[in-house]
Amino acid sequence: RAKAEGRDLYRFFTRELNARASQRLHLEHRLREAVAAQQLSLLYQPILDLDTGALVACEALLRWHDDELGPVPPARFVPVAEESGLIQDIGRFVLSTVCEQVAAWRDAGLGTCPVAVNVSAAHLQRESLAGPVADLLGRFGLSADALQIEITESVLMDLSGAISARVQALSDLGLAIHIDDFGTGYSSINYLRRFAIDCIKIDRSFIANLCNRDEDQALATAMIAMAKAFSLRVIAEGIEERVQLEVLRRLGCDFGQGYYFARPMDAADLARCLQAPGLLAAPKLAAAGA
Ligand code: C2E
Ligand code: MG
Ligand code: MG
Ligand code: MG
Repeated sequence: RAKAEGRDLYRFFTRELNARASQRLHLEHRLREAVAAQQLSLLYQPILDLDTGALVACEALLRWHDDELGPVPPARFVPVAEESGLIQDIGRFVLSTVCEQVAAWRDAGLGTCPVAVNVSAAHLQRESLAGPVADLLGRFGLSADALQIEITESVLMDLSGAISARVQALSDLGLAIHIDDFGTGYSSINYLRRFAIDCIKIDRSFIANLCNRDEDQALATAMIAMAKAFSLRVIAEGIEERVQLEVLRRLGCDFGQGYYFARPMDAADLARCLQAPGLLAAPKLAAAGA
């Protein structure tokens, strides 16, 4: 009897695992086709100076709309890209698209708006990006401050040191290195001393409960104080409400990004924001008592 039950369970799990594996394989297949057909695109989300409301940069965020699967969020397809190696093609696509876009905005007389690019550890494990990035900057006539690199803490935890050396090479080119999802990595923050980190991005999860969980406010306070002590700049991500902005301003957070200001938008809409730089933030800052 127990044996029969065990057998049923085994069958159940096997079926379940097979279904998941084939789903994943299908996603990988579709993604491979999408990359080949250049069906991935980028949106840009503004990053604002919380003192002045100035639009100081934006973050490039991948989008994929598949004919059959519909819109697939990056949280779902980036891990598949990392495991399958497609992240290399995707990462290069993002870097070259961003450089071309920054140059296009500049050529339209809108100035140089720096763009933060998410770079995956799995990509840096496979190849150095310093060479390709230097080529792109040269090709589009951009200086190194046109690009900012966002990496997660896990990138700096690699034991071999190979990935860290590749991050350092990007920093040596003059690119600012930002630590994304800061506070979620469970890593030693020792790397803040060893690396040329320019900025930390406080993870959205801390901002979400900033005003209703004392622990999260204490953590955000500590992160901002620590950043100041290390002369790092701080971006808060996921600002959705006026009260969060008020608290962050009081804590001395430098920059912010989130739906309260603007959602990720296409390049044409971002150009409109660049044309009227005060428009986005001025009313929001006024509402927050600035
Ligand atoms: P991330 O780098 O932490 O990006 C911020 C995410 O928060 C984005 O989700 C953005 O749309 C979302 N967000 C911004 N403001 C708000 C807000 O006020 N409220 C809420 N609820 N969400 C907000 P998205 O675009 O779905 O990207 C998710 C993750 O996928 C990114 O997290 C990043 O880890 C990864 N990703 C996106 N684009 C790329 C890329 O080009 N390359 C790589 N390697 N990863 C990427
Ligand atoms: Mg990011
Ligand atoms: Mg982030
Ligand atoms: Mg995040």
